[in-house]
Amino acid sequence: MTGVPRGGARLLEGGPIAAEIRQAVSEDVEAYRERHGRAPVLAVVICGRDAPSMVYLRQILRSCEKVGIEGRLVEVDGEASERSVVETIEALNSDAGVNGIIVQMPLPATVRLRSIVDAIDPARDIDGIHPLNAGLLRLGYDGFLPATAHASVEILRRSGIEIEGRRAVVVGRSQVVGMPAAFLLVRENATVTVCHSRTRDLARHVKDAEIVVVAAGKPGLIRGDMLRRGAVVVDVGINVVDGAIVGDVDFASAQRVASAITPVPGGVGPLTNALLLAHLVRAARGQEPDLVPPAAPNLPAGATPATVSGDPVASSQGAR
Ligand code: NAP
Repeated sequence: MTGVPRGGARLLEGGPIAAEIRQAVSEDVEAYRERHGRAPVLAVVICGRDAPSMVYLRQILRSCEKVGIEGRLVEVDGEASERSVVETIEALNSDAGVNGIIVQMPLPATVRLRSIVDAIDPARDIDGIHPLNAGLLRLGYDGFLPATAHASVEILRRSGIEIEGRRAVVVGRSQVVGMPAAFLLVRENATVTVCHSRTRDLARHVKDAEIVVVAAGKPGLIRGDMLRRGAVVVDVGINVVDGAIVGDVDFASAQRVASAITPVPGGVGPLTNALLLAHLVRAARGQEPDLVPPAAPNLPAGATPATVSGDPVASSQGAR
């Protein structure tokens, strides 16, 4: 573990890494367009116009535009039944012109998350929420990864932070962020502890960690005095406090103790967005019948792009 740089922790900014990824995506999109005479398409399903969702949605659509992906907004009435949301997704699944699907959360209270998640074609599930993709990650195979979890580990890898052999603590065990981040860290050969709201003595676990990934949705949950000197901190949290966006880590105290830390905003967020686009391109290429399927982007060195069938991408393409 490195010490604390003079002047405080090194900032692990997501922006420059995201720009690199977007550049590669733009080139892939251009090549796809030449082969197909059209842009790859991402369908974003939204049920009702919940304000925070709309902000996120506009960001995604803007990012698509920047790299030449067609972002298609599919609006379902906020009062719609679960059945009609599922039918909307099924129609997108069977539309050969749609390469990837994401469903904007939160869903209306009347719609069960599980029904929606199950409805998405795993081959178009570019945010890795379908049980097949979640299972592939769990087994160490190569499905679509949840973009935020992917970003929380990718920012470490691309910033040259050593992960192998290190003690990592993930605070948060959600299916979309905490758990997939933990599995990815294990895949990178870290020794991982997952903490949650029932963890006794969170501070003790965090103090022991060389890498701390925080995804709890609780502003100020992790303070500098809880960290081991020289720890690397990835703050996934996005919270609005007094009109400002803050993470789950008290940045001012943490950056005096950590060796490196992601800022909020400007850390994991931009990378999440860029990786989602990379996943979309991968989905689109995997759906091209005549192409040798592409390898997953950003596989850790030494990781096996293993699949059940031996085809390096078959598993990520779902049950086709
Ligand atoms: P979530 O589903 O609410 O899960 C939060 C997790 O944190 C749960 O596992 C919960 O434990 C744990 N937790 C809550 N309070 C805790 C405490 N006091 N001590 C220890 N653990 C605690 O949230 P999520 O969807 O995973 O999102 C987490 C954060 O990431 C949120 O701030 C969200 O806005 C942000 N996020 C960021 C991005 C991005 O692109 N940067 C994308 C998605 C989400 P239990 O399981 O015991 O309840």
